[in-house]
Amino acid sequence: MAQAVSQTVNLTELSVIVPIYNEEESIKPLCERLLSVLDEMGKPFEVIFVNDGSSDNSFSLLQDAAKERIELKIVNFRRNYGQTAATMAGIDHASGEVIIPIDADLQNDPADIPKLLGKLAEGYDVVSGWRKDRQDAAIRRNFVSRLANRLISKISGVHLHDYGCTLKAYKKDVVKGIRLYGEMHRFIPIYATWMGAKVCEIPVQHHARQFGQSKYGLERIAKVLLDLMVVKFLDRHMVKPIYVFGGIGLVSFFASFLSTIWMLWLKFFENTSMIQTPLPLVVTMTFLVGVMCILLGLLAEMIVRTYFESQGRSPYLVKETVNMEQE
Ligand code: UDP
Ligand code: MG
Repeated sequence: MAQAVSQTVNLTELSVIVPIYNEEESIKPLCERLLSVLDEMGKPFEVIFVNDGSSDNSFSLLQDAAKERIELKIVNFRRNYGQTAATMAGIDHASGEVIIPIDADLQNDPADIPKLLGKLAEGYDVVSGWRKDRQDAAIRRNFVSRLANRLISKISGVHLHDYGCTLKAYKKDVVKGIRLYGEMHRFIPIYATWMGAKVCEIPVQHHARQFGQSKYGLERIAKVLLDLMVVKFLDRHMVKPIYVFGGIGLVSFFASFLSTIWMLWLKFFENTSMIQTPLPLVVTMTFLVGVMCILLGLLAEMIVRTYFESQGRSPYLVKETVNMEQE
């Protein structure tokens, strides 16, 4: 045992990343569960808690825990940036060969970590958890979220059952340097597949939240779907926006051309007027306005990203770190 420790003193194998936003009650039991699993595995590890601007006691409880064990590290954000930025900060600060994000609220079970690693050892680059028996309120497991998962699978061409499960395992080279925005932490397996990584999914346990409340409402599904479009059109370089929107534009031009001919025909040869049946017009107008808004949203997204990237700005600001080499 002593020999194993001395051999691996500078070589972290596992980096577990935990985004924390107001999770004070969960921190103690989480540390206990994580440490018991990780110590048992006997591999050199670190746990990086990313404190995402918590307004409760989370940070001081994390500091207490970090005083006990050097492997428990903290990245403390200046304010709340959201789970995606917290995940990205964890990845940026991780020194392990394998990176494992996990929720702070013990809904994911640390006991599943060895299972994920077993799959990586089989040669996969990404192993994604599947909450087969999801223990959230019925409204979160409803058909909308199932439909969202189906849609993501269809649009991305990367077929998983559950994109939203935080518990996943990545080989370092698949995720280092990755730039994530919005709700995109859940799409890492999709990016990875597009880059040629081998991705698989395994069922993992899921428990009901014991303390506090979920930080999200149902509007998250809409955000996830909109972000998926951005991922598809802006990040998947093979899809040129002009082909997609140009195509829609051409079809709508053609449709309006045909409608004009039809209207003229009705007016001059049938002696009726389309003004008496405005519904199709309303439908067409709202559809086109919808398409235009989505297109404008994508364009704006592109400009905002170009702006941030050109400034080399980080999507989060770190106030301090604890137990990290460069503090
Ligand atoms: N979280 C975060 N920043 C936020 C919202 C959430 O770091 O702005 C963390 C939260 O503390 C938890 C994880 O992200 O560790 C998942 O959040 P939650 O359990 O509320 O989501 P759900 O289980 O409903 O998906
Ligand atoms: Mg949760």
